[in-house]
Amino acid sequence: MYLEFSEDEELFREAVREFSKRYIEPIWVEVDEKGRLPMDLIKRMGEQGLFAIPVSDEFGGVGGSLTMAAIATEEIAYHDPAVAIAVYALLQNGWPMALDQFGSDELKSMILPEVASGDAFFGIASTEAHGGSDVAGIKTFAEKVDGGWRVNGEKVYISGVREVLELPTGGGWFLVSKTGSRDYGHRNISAFALVPRWKGDVKDGFEPTVFEEIGRGGLSTGGFKLNNFVVDEKFLIGEEGKGFYYVMQGFNIARILVSAACIGSGRWALDQAKEWLTTRKLFQGRKLSSFQGINFKFAELYTELEAARLFTYRAARLADKIYIERKPGYKPQDLNVPVAMAKLKAPETAIRIYEEVLKWFGAYGYTKESNVYRGWLGTFSYVIGAEGGQNIMRIIIARDVLGKENIRS
Ligand SMILES: Cc1cc2nc3c(=O)[nH]c(=O)nc-3n(C[C@H](O)[C@H](O)[C@H](O)COP(=O)(O)OP(=O)(O)OC[C@H]3O[C@@H](n4cnc5c(N)ncnc54)[C@H](O)[C@@H]3O)c2cc1C
Repeated sequence: MYLEFSEDEELFREAVREFSKRYIEPIWVEVDEKGRLPMDLIKRMGEQGLFAIPVSDEFGGVGGSLTMAAIATEEIAYHDPAVAIAVYALLQNGWPMALDQFGSDELKSMILPEVASGDAFFGIASTEAHGGSDVAGIKTFAEKVDGGWRVNGEKVYISGVREVLELPTGGGWFLVSKTGSRDYGHRNISAFALVPRWKGDVKDGFEPTVFEEIGRGGLSTGGFKLNNFVVDEKFLIGEEGKGFYYVMQGFNIARILVSAACIGSGRWALDQAKEWLTTRKLFQGRKLSSFQGINFKFAELYTELEAARLFTYRAARLADKIYIERKPGYKPQDLNVPVAMAKLKAPETAIRIYEEVLKWFGAYGYTKESNVYRGWLGTFSYVIGAEGGQNIMRIIIARDVLGKENIRS
């Protein structure tokens, strides 16, 4: 039921596929190797309408759906299995959508058209060094001052730091910070659009660093200190003290696209395997695919990937009903379990596929020339926890299915 795509969606998929074949497939290895996203590619992706797809056209978005954003992410990841370009795209759909849902018209008019065109980045800044899974435990604090807020704290493992410094307009993040009190908990968390660079120099009080990572080479991950960084009051997203609710909804949106990236990358790996297994011959001319020990495993992984796709698009359709169509009777919380299942299933399936495909490739898989390892390392970022650790997905499912009161020891 949920995997029937409309004619428009199929045409859109075809257009993204053509674009990705032409502009992404020829460069994905170089992007991963050099660890840099070409600025002209980002601009081209903006012109193609690959960013801000689920953002209303009134604020410069495509006026599409999260299902379309998932389709785009899956196709881009198929042509960039190391997923840096796909993750750039998914962040530029997920977090702008969250801003579109909760931000003021003034904020949306300022930020969203620049993100849609590819001139600015807008990601998420939640994680802190003492533990990203525990959002209620963040320590960054925004103190109310005349006309705004003075923010102090430090965020780590944040995607897009270098891109914010290098893109023509700049950009920033959906920042979560404690306000009012520093106590542990979620009721004193507010969300801000943190924009340390916008059409000019980096603002005072923003001290960035960029980390070196083992995979997903094209997109930077870094961190920053906020040292008396002043945020104008217009950058508060929604109501003060409601930031935790907004960011959790943002995570649900983004996790659907993360799952789409993993299934696109996993599909690429299985296609590589199909080609390899049906042409490589040994033991007196038998194709590798003729051995049951191999074709059974292939069949299992193919099935697992299809299951992950079903979870992903089911969650995307549900998100569209809640946020885009605004259908009565659908609530943001309805997404928790479907999204957690998709985010649990898709990255782990991609990793299982990569581990098997690497083995099927034999020693060739262990060479850099095969490039299969790039997808393995890229998708592993989502098993580690970008946009939420896997155990957090398990906690969400157990909590909602067994009941909150029954999972506390
Ligand atoms: C490539 C990459 C990009 C990222 N980009 C961003 C970004 O743009 N913005 C951002 O805010 N963050 C980003 N992150 C950080 C990411 O959100 C965190 O890694 C994630 O939330 C987990 O936090 P942590 O790494 O501090 O691990 P921890 O929270 O310390 O968790 C460590 C381990 O313990 C497990 N665990 C935690 N709590 C429990 C529990 N109660 N029960 C059982 N197990 C538990 C976790 O699943 C994990 O395996 C990125 C991470 C990566 C790897």
